[in-house]
Amino acid sequence: MADTVRDKFSVGLTGGIGSGKSVVASMFAARGATIVDTDKIAHGMTVAGGPAMPALLAEFGPEFADASGAMDRARMRALVFSDATAKARLEAILHPLIRGAALAEAEAATGSYVIFDVPLLVESGAWRSRVARVLVVDCPEAVQIARVMARNKMPASQVQAIMAAQAPRSTRLAAADDIINNEGDLAALEPQIARLHDLYLAFSAGTITIPSQRL
Ligand code: ADP
Repeated sequence: MADTVRDKFSVGLTGGIGSGKSVVASMFAARGATIVDTDKIAHGMTVAGGPAMPALLAEFGPEFADASGAMDRARMRALVFSDATAKARLEAILHPLIRGAALAEAEAATGSYVIFDVPLLVESGAWRSRVARVLVVDCPEAVQIARVMARNKMPASQVQAIMAAQAPRSTRLAAADDIINNEGDLAALEPQIARLHDLYLAFSAGTITIPSQRL
């Protein structure tokens, strides 16, 4: 299983829930970048017949599969919510599988460079060391809350609980090589995406070099 991306310039795209990662990813995709969506890969791991299912059922027991053979998400969520050790056991199974599948997708990519969409990249040393550049989508917390309330029909308290389990805004910004400000409207994103796309093309063509502290 690949553990690094060879010969391809790669960016780790991250940001808190509702910051606008999906919107930003689709704008880079429209310009020819390959997007590797780790949330989507994670979901595919635990469907019926998914690659993580044998290890998960061996670790947690057959009662963690639903009638279709997929992971019983509600049951697993309830367990890991109240049990940090169980959460760590779950992640020890899932995370390497997700990374391996993501890196394999990147190896097969045909785009001009690869963007890994990784919601918890800043929280994960394993991801930070595998990308050439960290791109953070940023907006004030009040904007995140309003967007997720509208998108997911969730009360503010539930959005805040999810945000509390993610790295704080300041930690994410401190880890960033590049920042997209998504406080404004969608039109305000375009020039920022255009500038970064040019930069990433230059990195991937080798006409400028990657800062040495990230290699
Ligand atoms: P994430 O992937 O980071 O959770 P999304 O890209 O799904 O965030 O954005 C969250 C929600 O806010 C979506 O419904 C999206 O359409 C909306 N949204 C994102 N950026 C903007 C913006 N600049 N203006 C208005 N709505 C936005």
